[in-house]
Amino acid sequence: MNRKAFIQNFSLLSAGAIAAPSLLTRVFQEGPFYPLRNGAGYFTGRGGTIGWFVTDDAIVVIDSQFRNSAEEFISGITTYGNGPTRFLFNTHHHGDHVSGNGAFAESDYRIIAHQNVPELQQQASQGNDEVIPSASITFEDEFSIDAGDEQITAKYYGNAHTGGDSVIWFSNSNIAHMGDLVFNRWYPFIDRPGGASVRGWITLLETVADEADSDTLFIFGHGNSDFGVTGDRSDVLYMRDFLAKLIEHTEAGLAAGLSREEITSVNQFEEFPNHQSAGSRLSLPANLSVVYDELTADE
Ligand SMILES: [Zn+2]
Repeated sequence: MNRKAFIQNFSLLSAGAIAAPSLLTRVFQEGPFYPLRNGAGYFTGRGGTIGWFVTDDAIVVIDSQFRNSAEEFISGITTYGNGPTRFLFNTHHHGDHVSGNGAFAESDYRIIAHQNVPELQQQASQGNDEVIPSASITFEDEFSIDAGDEQITAKYYGNAHTGGDSVIWFSNSNIAHMGDLVFNRWYPFIDRPGGASVRGWITLLETVADEADSDTLFIFGHGNSDFGVTGDRSDVLYMRDFLAKLIEHTEAGLAAGLSREEITSVNQFEEFPNHQSAGSRLSLPANLSVVYDELTADE
């Protein structure tokens, strides 16, 4: 359950007729740490979902959210495991995934990301007062860590949500952290200045779905309150289908000679009734506008 879901459920309970004390207690006790299987889990807090894996030897973390929630995570994770070897992967450079990096660095986590991430992070943070550390270990195609009987591998598949996204695979647990490559039933942020490619993103999701199997558990950077931040291969392909629909709609509009305004003035596709928007930036018109730019830039 993400934070928004928690707030919604809580206000539902407060306002509604079913404020049973036991249910209230249960809601309060849920999260932000959610164990999944084999020492792996996720943490909601604030920002992009954190993934984690603990053994007696190591703590491996995916994404750092913001300083406050990072500090809450760093102290709370020791309930699950307190191994001395510590790694933090950044799935990409966006602020809601890297702004807690300083807290992790101060706690002796070594930070790993795709080789494009430090520069993208620096470009995106120009003008900010606080300097947030970037990855000190970078890789071109993939990078693996062995931790106990688990192998954790970050893989780069090309431009998609940004120009530096990784998928982090936990091979033994059969879990994959998708960063922002899946916004689960939420209109995604598509960072074209940061290297996004919607067509690349579609290919990536197909490749990842092929590499997964029916038991693979996925952790998503963001999800709406009804569908949450975990899912399976079908949710990855649903995101692929949504992105393909963005392309199809925009190509059809261009072929019919429609203007940008005409192409982008649609608030919901009927095939995707569960998608939610979060302000004008994370909305269907915003998504279509980016796709319009991508498709017309080729001409
Ligand atoms: Zn992002």
